[in-house]
Amino acid sequence: MLTANDPSRHTWLDVPNDSDFPIQNIPFGVFIPEDDFTTIGTRIGDTAIDLAAFHQLGYFKDIEELPDDIFLQDTLNDFITLGRPMWRRVRNRIAEVFEANNDELKNNEEHKAQILFPVDKVQMLLPVFTQDYTDFYSSMEHAENVGTMFRGKENALMPNWKHLPVGYHGRSSSIIVSGEDIHRPLGQMKPADADTPVFGPSKLLDFELEMGFITSDGKHLGERITTDEAEDYIFGMVLFNDWSARDIQACEYVPLGPFLGKNFASSMSPWVVTLDALEPFRTASPEQDPEPFDYLKTTGDRTFDIQLQTIIQPENGAENVVCESNFKYLYWNISQQLAHHTVNGCNINAGDLMASGTISGPDEKSYGSMLELTWRGANPITLSDGSERKFINDGDTVIMRGYCKNENVRIGFGEVKSKVLPVIE
Ligand code: MN
Repeated sequence: MLTANDPSRHTWLDVPNDSDFPIQNIPFGVFIPEDDFTTIGTRIGDTAIDLAAFHQLGYFKDIEELPDDIFLQDTLNDFITLGRPMWRRVRNRIAEVFEANNDELKNNEEHKAQILFPVDKVQMLLPVFTQDYTDFYSSMEHAENVGTMFRGKENALMPNWKHLPVGYHGRSSSIIVSGEDIHRPLGQMKPADADTPVFGPSKLLDFELEMGFITSDGKHLGERITTDEAEDYIFGMVLFNDWSARDIQACEYVPLGPFLGKNFASSMSPWVVTLDALEPFRTASPEQDPEPFDYLKTTGDRTFDIQLQTIIQPENGAENVVCESNFKYLYWNISQQLAHHTVNGCNINAGDLMASGTISGPDEKSYGSMLELTWRGANPITLSDGSERKFINDGDTVIMRGYCKNENVRIGFGEVKSKVLPVIE
């Protein structure tokens, strides 16, 4: 079934050592080739593959149910709507054509000129049109760290936290693709020694190291998706930086939760890695105690071993790795998140984004936000140029990378990267 995952497969395209995108990955994204129309594509090594051209030139002719214009789109939504068996057939067929000993396209220079582009010559766009973005809060270490800072160690976790995957509805209009810059937000903040708020540029701008999963169409309003069904409704995953202005957030969150401290921008990596490609990296989630309700129970390994990094790069400076974490630390897995999201009958659409919440791990280097890494600014981080950071400065670029690796194969997500520009005057 998953022939695309065959670890012994080699490709006739160049793939640099330690590439995130070997022939076993075959992620999906949307890009503009030089002087051409927006297309859906995939990537092997550093080659972007135009799937609209690939389809038009007949390379999917054996998949008769695949609509002619399915890749001639500016989002993945319609392709996602076709469902998991079709995603699988398309990945398998791409793997076949680019396999080392397959000559169908390899020796056709005219077709290759229409299909293949150096990845640095194409412009990546947001891969999906997201109608709804939900942000969970599924890392126990993150929830405990933030709870300890604001309520003390005794009351760190709220009483509901181990009974359900806490989440809130975010804002999808301000989701941007990697490479787009953001501006520092303005807002109301309350200095520690003041009784009333002040207004101005956020002083405590932070990143949140997250991953998000992208859903397919779900069921009708009123129906539920069970934990056993959940993975059939999940297309793939991306890296996600859920930018947060801590001072604005602190001033506004009572009683209805995050608002302007969150909705000014969130950055997404451009290549969606399918759950199928992540299959070799399944692993167990942390033990859950107390036992969750039946509707949240899962069997088997339902999460993935994905190594994550956050990097701060000052203006014209070097990259500084400030955090190393792992997706597998999350207490609630993606099947539990989706089952919980729909247990009340809430419907989902193709392209919806469900983010994990900040992914912190057990040790101090694995904390997924500056809030935790510097403990609210009490322990600043020193960068390689000697400068200190409590939070993120104007001119800083924040980069997140993620990949899975075993003895056979490395499957990665590339990166999500945005620079912080000053407030727009
Ligand atoms: Mn978040």
